[in-house]
Amino acid sequence: MILHLADAAGSHDPADSQVNGDVHAGRANSDDPGNNCACSMGNTGKHSIAQGIHASIDYNDEPDHSDNHSDRDPDASYDTDFWSEEEYVKATKEMQKICKNSKHVSQFLRFGGAGYNLSVSHQFESSSEVARCAVQPGNIDDLKKIMKVFMKYDKVKFAVKGGGHSTNPGFSSTTGIQISMANFNELEYNSKTQNLRIGAGCLFDEVYKEIAQYKRNIVGGATAAGVGVAGWLLGGGYSLLTNQHGIGIDNLVEVQVVLCNGESVKASAERNSDLFFAIRGGGNNFGIVTSFTVKTYPLGPIYRNMLTFPIDKAAKVKEAIMNFIDKCKDKKAAIVGAYRHFCIRGEREDKITVDLFYDGPLPSDNPFEELLELSDDKWIHHEDHDEADKKLAENFAFMDQLFSHIHDPSRISAPPSHRQVDGTQLSLQTYAKNPPKSGVGEENVRARWGTVMVSHFTQKLLDEIEVQSKLAASKLKEYEGKTAVIDIWPFLPSMFDTSTSAAWPHEKGRPNGPLLACFQWEGESNDSFWIGMMKQILQSIQKVAEAEGCTNDKLPKYCNTSLADTPVQDIYKEHLPKLIAIRAKYDSDNMMGRTGGFRIPLAL
Ligand SMILES: Cc1cc2nc3c(=O)[nH]c(=O)nc-3n(C[C@H](O)[C@H](O)[C@H](O)COP(=O)(O)OP(=O)(O)OC[C@H]3O[C@@H](n4cnc5c(N)ncnc54)[C@H](O)[C@@H]3O)c2cc1C
Repeated sequence: MILHLADAAGSHDPADSQVNGDVHAGRANSDDPGNNCACSMGNTGKHSIAQGIHASIDYNDEPDHSDNHSDRDPDASYDTDFWSEEEYVKATKEMQKICKNSKHVSQFLRFGGAGYNLSVSHQFESSSEVARCAVQPGNIDDLKKIMKVFMKYDKVKFAVKGGGHSTNPGFSSTTGIQISMANFNELEYNSKTQNLRIGAGCLFDEVYKEIAQYKRNIVGGATAAGVGVAGWLLGGGYSLLTNQHGIGIDNLVEVQVVLCNGESVKASAERNSDLFFAIRGGGNNFGIVTSFTVKTYPLGPIYRNMLTFPIDKAAKVKEAIMNFIDKCKDKKAAIVGAYRHFCIRGEREDKITVDLFYDGPLPSDNPFEELLELSDDKWIHHEDHDEADKKLAENFAFMDQLFSHIHDPSRISAPPSHRQVDGTQLSLQTYAKNPPKSGVGEENVRARWGTVMVSHFTQKLLDEIEVQSKLAASKLKEYEGKTAVIDIWPFLPSMFDTSTSAAWPHEKGRPNGPLLACFQWEGESNDSFWIGMMKQILQSIQKVAEAEGCTNDKLPKYCNTSLADTPVQDIYKEHLPKLIAIRAKYDSDNMMGRTGGFRIPLAL
């Protein structure tokens, strides 16, 4: 066994290691001069986050209100007892001490300051909250101590943030103490087992990029775009590889968790198997995960293309999508179609896009032929993305990631219609290297995702999606809307054939995927309009999906893309009683009840 660890800070718990074969490890802060790791997987791209932090570490005991980096109102009183509630004061002091004693391997971020903002900010303004302070544990030992502090002060609320891409307010944000997992950014590839251990603070951008060096791929998010591995995996995880290998949780081999009592345990099919069952889809109900070990798969040339059509071609594109769904039984092929409506500088832009993915070189019997033949304008005009409209660019950061090839000038002059790429196309620009300026009190976009779960698509369902997306688009100007998107992401009926039993029910013979709507807008005053519109639209689509036999009450909802008021019963279905019992075993004091998220109750 050769063990290469670039982790001088010790987030890897040697007592727990059970590594067979060669391990190639890396860590974002691996510029430690003592680190001679020949096989390091390199920098995972988080220097920018780490560098911002020391400026705002509070070395004193008194909370510091100054914040030169934010334009928030310094007199704002977010909560009359913001600084003085006894439990918070005590808990905060203990956390400061833990961080100080760790020589700031773990970091305490006082209110305000760049490090604080990065710790509490989310992809969307609507999911950021003003936390009293933030903490970035740097290793398992410190996280164990931090959990014990939360256990001791039972009025203290907290939140756990991975990539911060939840669109539901309070799911990974809090007005209490924010835990950011950004320091858990190590990656370890074991060439013997071909498994990859991923720190719970990693983003897909980094993971895809690093693992590609080994010509391996993972079942991961369809777009990287700063999405956190942790939240995605804890909820289930749909991927472009799902037809071949199931969803993310089917590919999980082991997790390392710090439980609410401060104990650190590993869970797998063999060890703590009840916890392993519960974590896979159970979200943040069972403690804080520090790392995930997942299977990897061979990575060769991949075909990826994004086709963009003007909306007046929708009828033909829909027909081609429907033909693809009916005819293509090739597990390596995947498409994600989308009605995309934008409002840019007060002007509407309406598109239909189709993301094409083939896990290999395109076969001679090209499954995308009809779609490709339709496409003569494959590139979205990018003149709306310029320095002058930075705010808009930020608002569309997620779209920028998706369409980042469009912003590459070398590609604009002679866009290739088909691209064969070595390795995955997903690691173009990382959120971590280019973090959004959107912190608390700064401008950013608000958003919600909502879902109708469907077993398959029919022509009438596609027609309804078009009608509803146009309805949402018609309101963009009036209600400061930025985008209205409804996705068509079809899967094969065999998608769950190799699935394993997990908290989130997904079984052979019960195909089920998210028909996803995403709206983005500006201004809190527009929240109720857009959330109401989302519900109305999802209801209309649901009705048609039911009539078409594409959905029914038995299909479990997907927690990663469901609105916050979705009942947990609808997510966990027949697994809920079992999960209640497991939760009572691992969190009998309901500590995780002080965080947001879909909460599994302790008793019925
Ligand atoms: C651009 C974009 C693309 C997406 N693509 C896909 C896709 O292809 N397939 C898909 O299935 N979904 C997709 N999603 C949805 C995605 O799965 C969810 O948004 C997911 O919650 C993101 O995880 P995160 O770590 O970034 O989120 P966060 O907001 O940080 O966390 C989400 C939840 O997980 C909990 N959590 C995070 N880390 C931990 C931890 N270490 N221990 C315990 N609990 C933790 C949080 O407390 C919170 O409740 C996408 C979302 C976006 C914005």
